[in-house]
Amino acid sequence: MTAAVRTLFYLRKGTLEWVDAPDIDMTSDMDAIVRPIAVARCDLDDAFLRHDLGRPLQLAHAAKLVDQRLLDYLGRKPFAGPFPFGHECVAEVLEVGHEVRSVRRGDVVVVPFQISCGSCRACTTGLTASCTTAGRTPVSMYGLGAATGGWGGAMTDRLRVPYADHMLLPIPPDVEPATLASAADNIPDGWRAVAHPLNRRPSAPVLVLGGQAKSVGLYAAASALALGAESVDYLDTDPQRLGARPVERAASWRRTPARRGEYPVVVDANGERGALAYAIKSLAPGGICTSVALYFATGTRVPMWELYVRQGTLTTGLANARAELPAVLAAVATGSLRPELVTGVLADWEDAPQALLARATKVVVTRARITEASTA
Ligand SMILES: [Zn+2]
Ligand SMILES: [Zn+2]
Repeated sequence: MTAAVRTLFYLRKGTLEWVDAPDIDMTSDMDAIVRPIAVARCDLDDAFLRHDLGRPLQLAHAAKLVDQRLLDYLGRKPFAGPFPFGHECVAEVLEVGHEVRSVRRGDVVVVPFQISCGSCRACTTGLTASCTTAGRTPVSMYGLGAATGGWGGAMTDRLRVPYADHMLLPIPPDVEPATLASAADNIPDGWRAVAHPLNRRPSAPVLVLGGQAKSVGLYAAASALALGAESVDYLDTDPQRLGARPVERAASWRRTPARRGEYPVVVDANGERGALAYAIKSLAPGGICTSVALYFATGTRVPMWELYVRQGTLTTGLANARAELPAVLAAVATGSLRPELVTGVLADWEDAPQALLARATKVVVTRARITEASTA
């Protein structure tokens, strides 16, 4: 009873390889076993597929150039392969435990990248990224190996999902699994960066600085339009991202004078030195700046006076992917949010080791399902 499960492993920069991994089974009556059928490359995946991040981060940590708590969250050897790759997927449900009520075999579901229980104090207040029950490690998620709990990766034939009733959300009818492959992580990350601010300032103009968080910036811009922003200005230099055109205006933020005080809602998905300050300087009085970029450096500068005089709010942190998902799925179901426009490469599952290395903002790999559609 120890059949092998074919799983794609990250070995090192530029190298993914199929491995026969040990089979996995349910360990609780609240679990489900799912089979991913559409997997997306997260912006973070792209970074460690293209660059050797681990050793430089360790050296930078030793030299105190990066925050000294960074490795508490990424492990002592960050991004060191081999580990099972992938944490953004739509999957078909293969098996469910006796206590699972909300999904059944044959359902096609989004699997949020973070593990959350749905019932602890953090989860019940919407902070599913900070679930206190699921955490074996400070960050509990698929696709980064033991450093984030050893939950496995999305490029596999069998993936265990704990707290399945809470975790798994069926995708809307008539929506392709590939459309929602990134709904596990990057889409809700972009969504939250504008949805909460626009809730406070309905239809306000939005500024997005694109860059390091490649697809998240585009999803934020597209979400702002879906949520009725009066205008969305998107600043970036990457021709592929600009080609996705979910937005109205584009240029490098470095060459564009900050339109001081114009934007009640600003998103920093850029991550370059100076971008955060630019974002804050662009805030209108009472505006909200959300930074979705990762600033590892020790002592990143924040212009507190600029923030003060604008009565601004700066917010950042992991997206609560599971908590944002119902609103995201509703927007995709109505067609107001079309995440498939961001997908640059759509490839076959078997071609994943090469396809996932493509120079594109978003790569999605798909395969046919093996279960019959469940009848509700
Ligand atoms: Zn991710
Ligand atoms: Zn929880």
